[in-house]
Amino acid sequence: MPAITTSTSELLSRFDSLRRTLAAYSHATGVLQYDGDTVAPRGSAALRGQTLAVLSGVTYELQTGSDTTELLRELRSRSDELDPITLRDVSEMLRRIERLSRIPADEYVAYNRLVNEAGAVWRDAKERSDFALFRPYLEKIFETNIRFNRYIAPDTPVYDTALDEYERGLTTEKCDAFFAALRERIVPLMSRVSAYLAASKPEPFTSRRFPVWKQRLLSGRLMDILRLDRDHCIIGETEHPFTSGFTRSDVRITTHYHENSVLSSMFSVIHEGGHALYELGIGEEYDGTGLAGGISMSIHESQSRFYENIIGRSRAFAGLIVPVLREIFPEEAADVDAESFYRAVCRAEPSLIRIEADELTYCLHIMVRYELERGVMEGRFEVGDLPRLWNEKMGEYLGVTVPDDAHGVLQDSHWSGGGIGYFPSYALGSAYGAQMLEVMRKTVDVDAAVASGDLLPVNEWLREHVWRHGCMYDPGDLLERCCGAPFDPSCFTRYLERKYGDLCTNL
Ligand code: ZN
Repeated sequence: MPAITTSTSELLSRFDSLRRTLAAYSHATGVLQYDGDTVAPRGSAALRGQTLAVLSGVTYELQTGSDTTELLRELRSRSDELDPITLRDVSEMLRRIERLSRIPADEYVAYNRLVNEAGAVWRDAKERSDFALFRPYLEKIFETNIRFNRYIAPDTPVYDTALDEYERGLTTEKCDAFFAALRERIVPLMSRVSAYLAASKPEPFTSRRFPVWKQRLLSGRLMDILRLDRDHCIIGETEHPFTSGFTRSDVRITTHYHENSVLSSMFSVIHEGGHALYELGIGEEYDGTGLAGGISMSIHESQSRFYENIIGRSRAFAGLIVPVLREIFPEEAADVDAESFYRAVCRAEPSLIRIEADELTYCLHIMVRYELERGVMEGRFEVGDLPRLWNEKMGEYLGVTVPDDAHGVLQDSHWSGGGIGYFPSYALGSAYGAQMLEVMRKTVDVDAAVASGDLLPVNEWLREHVWRHGCMYDPGDLLERCCGAPFDPSCFTRYLERKYGDLCTNL
């Protein structure tokens, strides 16, 4: 325990050593996980699970030990002697530790081992479309999350604690209000769009065979267009695309290539590229601190979906990318023009797979997951009933028939990794991005920048208002600083109504 007489500078030097050690463990853990998800042989999962369990055990001890807690509390009590970044870093770490210390160490280590094994089992189960294989793992994951959230906040509904984990301050009440607002505007829009769709045909190029080796070249070109620094960002291949940001000097993104769907990987790369830009754009003043990452899943998704949808699915981007497509795929894309590309990437129709869903129907996929995971967390649904409930809700909201669990309840990796409470972040992220666009347009000619192929003005605006701040501000505060107003879901519905209204009227 630090003596009262210990100087603040000595406490700060201990704190600096602590956060560097924690950062090293976190880096090692992250790289091992990335390796497990990408290139490691399948038979290595058990060993990796043991190693990760040891690392997480040591990290847990280091974080929750009485020395650490006392050090952080002492530093916080001297807040007037700390600079704002250090004060925020100390407070955030203390908050995390106080939450974590409510979970017994052995249960925490066992849970880390569980989710690591569950990842491998989920991949097998999805490949064979065999939910029964995954079910015992998913049951344990839900049970553990319920138990942990009760430890963390005994007086708060467990699903609210789960939501708060990913987006501080988010509750089921706010989610319900947000989704209700979306449903009210999206459903009438969907019926207008389906009338338009009935009169149009899918663009033939979208299901044509595009060789994977050429799609890899396209990924490289997309990374260049987004201005991703290739010295600090690489791309790997996984079943389910994701981004791992270790520090602003090492960010990894992944994609999945489908030979008969060139747009699938293309928009995954743009989406993950948005996540990567955020991580790469964090201010150097946060190097070596615990604040050198994105602040929340929703703000992260606001960036990825900004690039994927607002930029990637714009007329200006269609004009930019079609010549690139025709250069890389001279035969496959010979008849593709900018307008047909734009129509194809904005085509909105109910579908089975979330990551391939369009902007308009996407939030309905999120609503299905939100209602199901919330139901299990609240004890209203059994894990064993999830496949049936999933299929029912997909029928109810999207009008689609789910052929098997691989295209249904097993499609996403999130639950296998313990990511319960994550999904609403996707929908919120879309809405945040639309609000940022409205403000950005006041000073940046977004379409002109995209059409010119130089995204610098867009990137710089986001760097200035979002990326460089790292974890300095809570997500709601960051959004308000960025937009000069609190969160307003109507920006998103206005954006969708304008875009799809135009598509239905002018095509
Ligand atoms: Zn994402």
